[in-house]
Amino acid sequence: MRLKTRAVLFAIAVLPALLAAQAGVGRTEYTVTFPAPEHRWAQVEATFTRVQGALEARMSRSSPGRYAVHEFAKNVFDLRAFDGSGKELTAVRVNPHQWNVAGHDGTVRIQYKVYGDTIDGTYLAIDTTHAHMNLPALLIWARGFDDRPVRVTFTPPPGSGWKAATQLYPTSDPFTFTAPNLQYLFDSPTELSAYKLRQFSVTNPGGKTYTIRAAVHSDASDQDIDQYAAGLEKIVREAEAVFGEFPDYEPGTYTFLADYLPWAGGDGMEHRNSTVVTGRALRGALGTAAHEFFHCWNVERIRPEGLEPFNFEDANLTDSLWLGEGFTQYYGPLIRTRAGLIDPAQAIGSFGGLANDVINAPGRQFRSAVGMSHAAPFADGARSIDRTNLSNTFISYYSYGGAIALALDLTLRERSAGKITLDDFMRAMWRVHGKPGGPAPGLVGRPYSVNDVRDRLADVSGDRAFADDFVARYIRGREVVDYATLLARAGVALVRRNPGRAWLGDVGFDGTRISTLVPWGSPAFVAGLEQDDVVTAVDGKSVANAPQIQEALAAHKPGDTIALAFNRRSGPATAAVTLQEDPALTATLVEATPGGRLRPEEKAFRDAWLGSRQTKN
Ligand SMILES: [Zn+2]
Repeated sequence: MRLKTRAVLFAIAVLPALLAAQAGVGRTEYTVTFPAPEHRWAQVEATFTRVQGALEARMSRSSPGRYAVHEFAKNVFDLRAFDGSGKELTAVRVNPHQWNVAGHDGTVRIQYKVYGDTIDGTYLAIDTTHAHMNLPALLIWARGFDDRPVRVTFTPPPGSGWKAATQLYPTSDPFTFTAPNLQYLFDSPTELSAYKLRQFSVTNPGGKTYTIRAAVHSDASDQDIDQYAAGLEKIVREAEAVFGEFPDYEPGTYTFLADYLPWAGGDGMEHRNSTVVTGRALRGALGTAAHEFFHCWNVERIRPEGLEPFNFEDANLTDSLWLGEGFTQYYGPLIRTRAGLIDPAQAIGSFGGLANDVINAPGRQFRSAVGMSHAAPFADGARSIDRTNLSNTFISYYSYGGAIALALDLTLRERSAGKITLDDFMRAMWRVHGKPGGPAPGLVGRPYSVNDVRDRLADVSGDRAFADDFVARYIRGREVVDYATLLARAGVALVRRNPGRAWLGDVGFDGTRISTLVPWGSPAFVAGLEQDDVVTAVDGKSVANAPQIQEALAAHKPGDTIALAFNRRSGPATAAVTLQEDPALTATLVEATPGGRLRPEEKAFRDAWLGSRQTKN
């Protein structure tokens, strides 16, 4: 049975490749040059062969790992099409993202220029120091050609001293790379610059060795770069300890593409065998690296349904960014603490922030964690011209999911006396959904659903009723766990940040005008106040600026009712606001609280949670 299964799998894996070779499925070829890097555009030529019928060439609308649409066609200009003999063809713009090319001889060559001056994980940045390229922002592709192999040749400007760093497959030419298919190609950001390289190797339990590289394009000192690379190595080894092994990095390498430049935006973007991490300064950049490296398991291979395969024609919708992003958000500081890069108080502070968001932000009244994931296309790098009320109806799946991870980790530890942890859950997800891989590099064969999450949780906890209940209440439902009780097991106090302070809601003022949405359900909201109302008096005393409003509030206790006079669109109005105690929470180590003492059992719980998982040699 086992052998037969293997034989069938072999046939499935090999046959399409053989058939493709016999049928002569063409390869897509790109050349990318930089005739005027000072003007920040690239010249691209894309060649599609064995084209049947009209070629439907498109610029992507989205990019893996960024959940809004970005309309990469907007920066494409001077596009022309030719056939294999060099005869110019008409490229018909059939929609904002697509050019159709007919009347060819089986070969279509498309030439265009594309502008880019944004350094981050999504866009394109070309200047005299580098070409920092997220490939969906750079390369045109064609419908129906997704499975074709790809070859890309970059030509740096003469005398630039640029080298290439990428997860694309290398060839004998240092500037020519290949990809097995479109999904892998577009998952492969590429940096051309005079970057500095640091690398180390890691070995999996089976003996296979991989090179972890950091290509650092930065004006940071060599010493800072060495320190950054040393931190990366600690993170990489501690992250591996969560899963027990590294993924099989297909080209044999995993690369941190680090651009830390004064004109860069702060960002991080995960990919299968690399990550783009960017920002103004290299110091303090390890937090982003820890998050992104965890993604090489979680999202890149343990991938939620809805992100597989990635749809380059629209925003991608998934139920599970609370796991893909949120659990990763939790593991970032956890791994840095375990690796000794930050101290436990810092991690606890960030975990307290996650819990506070979910407990106190109004969005949980309206959407579950799954619902927050559905809102990603409007939140993740999305721009709205019109006003939205997302600050009232949305909680980032990073913090919501991070808080769920925190709750689940502490709950599993508590109910198993420390024998079962969130690491076991992640390993179960890895075993079933990640490690088996996909039909080709860049593809995931078993993306997971929320039901799969529930089943894995039942597997690791050995308690289906617990798994059903947890998912129903805290992931599909809108309930919140009792964080204070859970954190207390680890000697962590979740306490009011501003005890005794009278509070009308987290309302922003510009002068005396309310400049933010009034948080849903807050005292000011209940009293009927809203954005753009201009407060004129508190308790009958006129106010001229925000400090005077705060001063008037400070004279009150929670439970007091104050009289507000204000002007709104319909004219003067008044409201009686019953103040509450500021509900904001903060987490601190119990021994750092007045009179607090860490008990031995709490210390043991905390050490097992926040201590290194690496096997000591
Ligand atoms: Zn992430």
